[in-house]
Amino acid sequence: MTSRRLFLRGLGGLTTSGIYFCNCCNADEIPSLVPVGGNWDKGGQDLGNDPTLSYRHPLAGTKRKPFFYNGKRIKVIDTHAHCFFPEAVLLAGTGSYVNGAVKGGPEHYIPASAKDIIQRRIENMDAKGVDMEVLSVNTFWYSKDKELAVEICRINNSNLAELCEAYPNRFAAFGSIATQYPEIAVKQLTEIMKNPVFKGVAIQANVAGVEHSDPRFHPVWAKAEELGAVLFIHPQGTPQLAQRFKGNGWISNVIGNPLDTTIALQHLIYEGILDKFPDLKVLAAHGGGFLGSYAARMDHSCFVSPSNCNSNISLKKKPTDYLSQIFFDSLVFTPEGLRHLVAQVGSQQIVVGTDSPIPWEDFPVDHVLKTPISDAQKAAILGGNAAKLLRITE
Ligand SMILES: [Zn+2]
Repeated sequence: MTSRRLFLRGLGGLTTSGIYFCNCCNADEIPSLVPVGGNWDKGGQDLGNDPTLSYRHPLAGTKRKPFFYNGKRIKVIDTHAHCFFPEAVLLAGTGSYVNGAVKGGPEHYIPASAKDIIQRRIENMDAKGVDMEVLSVNTFWYSKDKELAVEICRINNSNLAELCEAYPNRFAAFGSIATQYPEIAVKQLTEIMKNPVFKGVAIQANVAGVEHSDPRFHPVWAKAEELGAVLFIHPQGTPQLAQRFKGNGWISNVIGNPLDTTIALQHLIYEGILDKFPDLKVLAAHGGGFLGSYAARMDHSCFVSPSNCNSNISLKKKPTDYLSQIFFDSLVFTPEGLRHLVAQVGSQQIVVGTDSPIPWEDFPVDHVLKTPISDAQKAAILGGNAAKLLRITE
């Protein structure tokens, strides 16, 4: 750890330029420098940082016409957008999986000084009609020791703050916390929320295999509730099913990611966490996975099989009623999918999410506008709900 620290300190002058960083991870080696955005790692840590994966929106260079409701321009807020910072990725070491070989991979790297890549991100946002992205770093530090995890989070949060302060109208952020060390996570959360660019924190759908409902994490959720910090729950697959996910189609993502979120949310509901913390603001990625599509089954399980339910847990509401207590992003691809989510959870619970810079949804505004719901509901989903949830005023 000490050697990593020293190494980063030595690298500090270079990384703050945002132009270069080291492609090795051994403090004893002399750094060999390659451009950020260059193809610096083929060891499995960051296959996404490959220039051939760079992505431009098909309408890049144009600006999508804004949406007005009742004479007011709607500020479109994308709550599901990612980034990485080279220093933190480097510090994690080559054994850490960070970024997959996906389109938009290079556009993840946006330290405040990487002006060209940031400009590419903003062009893609303009083409999509997105005014603001709320950035988050997908976790890759949950298996790290305390000192390393804290340092990775510190680097992420410092870079996120610098970036958002440099582009206050285009970026806000969900900070990084070392959730696996709850006492530290509480302190990090408290510190993060002192800076208004942070709207909450991004957490994985489980904490190194432990569910969020585990009592050890309750102090973290209590602090988030107290501070009004949004918990953005983002999946990272379901590795327990890796054998069945083998084969064509990237099923580990197509099914594994939404399933991961679904499991996380079901535990929050069934274990009574949303009763214990009724004002906790939970925002679930990818439309909450499969939860909204097949929610009603939840209401029957403990009736059908009481022996599979904990008689010490007495929920205040039926399980599906908790859906209107959770926020969901709109990343469900079809107008019919979004219409159903609105019917299931309520339009006031849905905000725009795209997974930027990964091009899962290039036309998020049109996706909402084509959905058979009222204009008031469309305006709320495009921006009003997120502005209220995240306390974004202008
Ligand atoms: Zn995502």
